Amino acid sequence: MMHLKTPEEIELMRKSAQILSNSLAEVASRLQPGMTTLQVDAIVEQFIRDHGAVPSFKNYKGFPNSACISVNEAVVHGIPNGHILQEGDVVSVDVGVYMNGFHADSAYTFAIGDVPAHVQKLMTSTKTALQKGIEKAVVGNRVGDIAYAIQEYVEKERGYGVVRELVGHGLGRNLHEDPQVPNYGRRGSGAVLKEGLVIAIEPMVNLGTREVEYLEDGWTVVTRDRKVSVHYEHTVAVAKGKPDVLSTFAPIEEAERKNPAVNSAYIPQ
Ligand code: MG
Ligand code: MG
Repeated sequence: MMHLKTPEEIELMRKSAQILSNSLAEVASRLQPGMTTLQVDAIVEQFIRDHGAVPSFKNYKGFPNSACISVNEAVVHGIPNGHILQEGDVVSVDVGVYMNGFHADSAYTFAIGDVPAHVQKLMTSTKTALQKGIEKAVVGNRVGDIAYAIQEYVEKERGYGVVRELVGHGLGRNLHEDPQVPNYGRRGSGAVLKEGLVIAIEPMVNLGTREVEYLEDGWTVVTRDRKVSVHYEHTVAVAKGKPDVLSTFAPIEEAERKNPAVNSAYIPQ
């Protein structure tokens, strides 16, 4: 069942999303080689709690931390641990924030230091794919229009693999609500997008095969060929004519440009 939000509820979700985006900007300003993914998780959790909110993922279905941190071949749901980040690592940080009864959900992939040009291209392309999906999140379109726009760009135009097993989703009072929002599909198919529907759009794009598998920890999803995967996600309110994107990458990109340990060359101009 889909839960449509009132304008007032959307404003509450925007507040959650703003704290979330700023927590990722805090990560962007402090990321450096030598840091563990547990330290990155601590930055996120501290920032969220300092702003009077709660990390949505902590204890969600037993997940032990505040951020999912997925390095290199890890696609999503990586558990923060003692892994020491180093030059060339590609780090996806996925965060949920709960405040005033509403969740927001957003993810961002960072590159530590020098990463090859083909990986930077994957990052740029995935961010562009997210944008192409968001553009379809308007009243009267269908979920399949978002899915098709993402898949068409990622697979046909760029030649990468879109992950099938994990999808975007509605959200609000619950972290996951209907409808599911896949990153692949047919134009004109699926649920009709209505005013007040809020969805997380989140392409997961692999450099090589789209096939994934789970690690033994039961959480971490990795690419079957162990090539790099990238993940960007926004919380988006469906609206008439133009989607209302509640989370924002602007403060994250600004912080990336100021942090010499983080590669910002891939950011689209
Ligand atoms: Mg997420
Ligand atoms: Mg999500």
